[in-house]
Amino acid sequence: MKSCVIIGGGIIGLSTAYYLIKEGHQVTVIDQSDITSGASFVNAGYITPSHIIPLAAPGMISKGIKWMFDASSPFYVKPRLDSDFLQWSWAFKKSSTRQKVERSIPLIKDINILSRELYQEIKNSGDFEFQFERKGLLMCYKTDEAGEEEWEVGQRGKALGLGVANLTKEEVDLLEPEANLDIKGAVFYDTDAHMTPGQYMKALYSFLKEQGVTFYTNEKVLDIWSQDEKIATVKTDKRRLTADEFIVAAGSWSPTLTKSLGIKIPTQAGKGYRINVERPTGISIPAILLEAKVAVTPMNGFTRFAGTMEIGGINHEINPVRVEAIANAASAYYKGLEVKESEKSGAACGLRPVSPDGLPYIGRTSKYRNLCIASGHAMMGWSLGPATGKLIAEVISGRKTTLDISAYHPDRRF
Ligand SMILES: Cc1cc2nc3c(=O)[nH]c(=O)nc-3n(C[C@H](O)[C@H](O)[C@H](O)COP(=O)(O)OP(=O)(O)OC[C@H]3O[C@@H](n4cnc5c(N)ncnc54)[C@H](O)[C@@H]3O)c2cc1C
Repeated sequence: MKSCVIIGGGIIGLSTAYYLIKEGHQVTVIDQSDITSGASFVNAGYITPSHIIPLAAPGMISKGIKWMFDASSPFYVKPRLDSDFLQWSWAFKKSSTRQKVERSIPLIKDINILSRELYQEIKNSGDFEFQFERKGLLMCYKTDEAGEEEWEVGQRGKALGLGVANLTKEEVDLLEPEANLDIKGAVFYDTDAHMTPGQYMKALYSFLKEQGVTFYTNEKVLDIWSQDEKIATVKTDKRRLTADEFIVAAGSWSPTLTKSLGIKIPTQAGKGYRINVERPTGISIPAILLEAKVAVTPMNGFTRFAGTMEIGGINHEINPVRVEAIANAASAYYKGLEVKESEKSGAACGLRPVSPDGLPYIGRTSKYRNLCIASGHAMMGWSLGPATGKLIAEVISGRKTTLDISAYHPDRRF
């Protein structure tokens, strides 16, 4: 049994705690918040084997430049003279080649499928109750151009063994009769599942506490001290902690924590927003509204509309123009659905930890013998929680990992 300190109580930190206690380790989680908000609560709750193409893909830079001048665009990069941002941008550019994307596609698919199976396993274990539904994902399009682009991705998915079909509007209506969709058609992935993130986080947190995990919430890690190629102590604003193993799972804040240790894990915060509609919408299958890049999820008791990727540093300011754009997309794709002012004013945001190449950082750094990184999951952090937690627990227990994790190495260069 080892004593383990996890910095960060988002989906990645809590999933890691779950698998570490299953392996018999003693676990402490530190979080600067009270674990009720942020990316792991506001996300769209998709489990995404369908998302095989990383953000850094050919054409993305030119799209990004075009969108920079549109205040309501779904993707926005705020140019800054900051060395971390400039290095990340350069690494993003270098990752956006066809060859690198081709290499990432099977890696992204495999880890997503592993994680979906693990969510199912957690559900079957009865450890705690939560929504986990496998109804697939409709990639809805209004224009032929968007449909053709998505069908190309769908065919790649099919070749990799995913269940994908290109559906006409009439076929979509048969699947989704109450939703009143105003679209041309949809590419349907039967591989995907969905959940209610806030419900799951709360239940997992309670379960971990019952199992003896120690939580220090509203407590910020200020420094990490090393000695003889090992992490010796974590200093918070309230105490100092020693342990056998340390895991940095601090999402968008992870690179700030590792910097003083001489470890570079290039990451930018990608802000996204969500609006909850707490009344019947007739929507029963998750969807992505392709041209608007808005995600729609029928959650437990409400429908969530989520979107926007704003690379603009660490802040939680809500931009009403982008919230409005998400609400407008909802009305444009679902006839008769108007998002109320009160629903828009209840919008919340969270920061996705975006690595430059679309792959997370999972595993030990070579610099320290007892430090693991579990971060940089960008748009797939919710999906990849269980897989990341399991892989880190295997590393810490000194066992062969379920998947080869060399591509996720935190020391990789771009
Ligand atoms: C709008 C939106 C929609 C999304 N939709 C999906 C989706 O459908 N499917 C999907 O797979 N992913 C989705 N994502 C992405 C996913 O939510 C993130 O990748 C994931 O939540 C990241 O989890 P994390 O645990 O790494 O980070 P976080 O959830 O950010 O957790 C990190 C934690 O570390 C704590 N912390 C940071 N610094 C310190 C410190 N110094 N001391 C102590 N604690 C610290 C923070 O308080 C925080 O609680 C979405 C994200 C957004 C914003």
